[in-house]
Amino acid sequence: MSAPFVTRFAPSPTGLLHRGHAYSALLAHEAARANRGTFLLRIEDIDATRSRKEFEAAIFEDLAWLGLSWPAPVRRQSAHLADYEAALSRLVAAGLVYRCFRTRREVAQAMASAPHGAMDTFRSDPLPSAEEAERLARGEPFAWRLSLAAAQARLGGFGNLTFQEEGAGPNGETGLIQARPELGGDVVLARKDVGVAYHLAVVCDDALQGVTHIIRGCDLFEAAHVQRLLQALLGLPTPVYRHHRLLAGPDGKRYAKRDKAETLRALREAGMTPERLRQEMGL
Ligand code: GLU
Repeated sequence: MSAPFVTRFAPSPTGLLHRGHAYSALLAHEAARANRGTFLLRIEDIDATRSRKEFEAAIFEDLAWLGLSWPAPVRRQSAHLADYEAALSRLVAAGLVYRCFRTRREVAQAMASAPHGAMDTFRSDPLPSAEEAERLARGEPFAWRLSLAAAQARLGGFGNLTFQEEGAGPNGETGLIQARPELGGDVVLARKDVGVAYHLAVVCDDALQGVTHIIRGCDLFEAAHVQRLLQALLGLPTPVYRHHRLLAGPDGKRYAKRDKAETLRALREAGMTPERLRQEMGL
């Protein structure tokens, strides 16, 4: 029996899907088919303020129109917050995260006032315990940040952290990649408002769903570096990555959620067919 092949398309229901999403979903679906594997759809809706049910419904509609199918039930991140909390508790217990009470503005200020070149991503130290206790007692909200320093000490450096890239990063990075989680700084793993954040939820879900291949746009290549570190810290398997190029419109700019005319819904309403769309994408 050949090795299992499980991939996923994991959109956030914060807008309508556009051509770029279709490209990602079609590539992942095709890879699963070619490998007699499984294509999963996952709804990344931890951001309760920006996620909307109508966008989720549109995702199902658009993907079905493209001719894709996926097994039920579909995993919705908002229904699995306990899984992310459990993972976070392990990181807290291991001293690999710290509480950050700073506002966005304070983080930006701290970065701006750092000596030039010394800090282009945010890194900090845990607060002295007396101050932390005081702020907790006052009920101040806080985020949990990954401590790169603690992670580095735990793993004896990041030298052994690698991942396999079968596609390419934005600068053509391919093959065995040395992970550089320091690129992301001390990332937030649990937001003040929802108690979890993107990197932690994705890493937990990919492991829980047995995802073997991550196929997504190369705008998320840097995320793989951080996610590889989280996999190591949580003792989770590392999938193979296939980052793909980003589609650009006639103006050379990549498609974004704000390009209303390029949403799959608008294209469909303008008479586009899934066959022609595939052709235009070179699929
Ligand atoms: N939810 C993310 C997005 O919509 C994708 C996450 C991933 O593929 O790892 O950009």
